[in-house]
Amino acid sequence: MTATLTIDLGALVANWRRLAALHPGATAAVVKADAYGLGAARVAPTLAAAGCRHFFVAHLDEALAIRPLVPAAAIAVLNGLAAGRAADYVAQDITPVIGSLAELAAWQEEAAARRENLPTILHADTGMARLGFSPDELAVLRAEPARLAGLRLDYLMTHLACAEDPADPFNAEQARTFRAVTAQFPGVPTSFANSSGLFLGPDFHADLARPGAALYGINPTPATPNPMAPVVTLTAPILQIREVQPGTSVGYNRYWIARRPSRIATLAVGYADGYLRALSSKTAARFDGIPVPLVGRVSMDLTTFDVTDTHAQPGDALTLLGPQHGADALAIDAGTNGYEILTSLGRRYQRRYIAV
Ligand SMILES: *Cc1c(COP(=O)(O)O)cnc(C)c1O
Repeated sequence: MTATLTIDLGALVANWRRLAALHPGATAAVVKADAYGLGAARVAPTLAAAGCRHFFVAHLDEALAIRPLVPAAAIAVLNGLAAGRAADYVAQDITPVIGSLAELAAWQEEAAARRENLPTILHADTGMARLGFSPDELAVLRAEPARLAGLRLDYLMTHLACAEDPADPFNAEQARTFRAVTAQFPGVPTSFANSSGLFLGPDFHADLARPGAALYGINPTPATPNPMAPVVTLTAPILQIREVQPGTSVGYNRYWIARRPSRIATLAVGYADGYLRALSSKTAARFDGIPVPLVGRVSMDLTTFDVTDTHAQPGDALTLLGPQHGADALAIDAGTNGYEILTSLGRRYQRRYIAV
């Protein structure tokens, strides 16, 4: 009686094509965190078969895991060069996104030792203040080109801080800063937009876009209807239905108390499955399209729903996440974003992939 997570690979491919059609450059796929929880082992080869030539992950180990599945694609590690592991990148043709002079020196040392031109992406920080070279540090690099000798500069990239809010003036500021940086490296290809950035217009287009969330159905334009196809559905069968009288409390801490004779359906899904405890009494599942409110607290392995207004029976499935109530909607209910909903999706779900 476990929950089933269904992932529509056809919708995934449709989303990648939709994003690719928005700009003249190439379109990578960001598949970090196991493709935002959907399973990089299925997502990456599916997108490669559809024509995607570039993949980004966060960790070297994520890159190594997908390398055999996308043998002809470029794979880059956003978190950079893992200390002491340069040889692993070279052996598997994996590109580090270099974000500091120290990393650059280590990568260059590897290139010198091998007398090989190693592929490199340089990360310019234009406003995230997490990783990457500041514009001043990049100017130093430009003035001292020897620091790049032996490296093949594939892309100069940066990352947007507020792209999902087109009204935020910081977007244009980052675009200006990035243009000033790229002007110092004429002829070097650029990589700029994430999912939302692709919808901000030509100032945010570059040689390579790096969408993640929108591929998986998250709305890249939160102020307007979602242009992406839904990819993920989570359903779970009802274990039991309990008839309770007014005044009966349900679950831990008596967080919800019935005000009318009620039918309470219990599902084998809980916060240990990434069905966040913050959803307690804040969201609804669907039965035959009818909203059924979550009542009481989400517990570790079980959650309760009020199905009084339906004819749901034990064994019937409730939809916890689906086209009518997707990751973005659940995120609003939980006070988070759709990214956290997807990357939290549990390991205990039975996973079903709908082939392209
Ligand atoms: C995660 C990430 C992306 C993808 O962002 P989405 O908002 O999911 O499209 C792109 N670039 C960098 C540097 C990232 O960390």
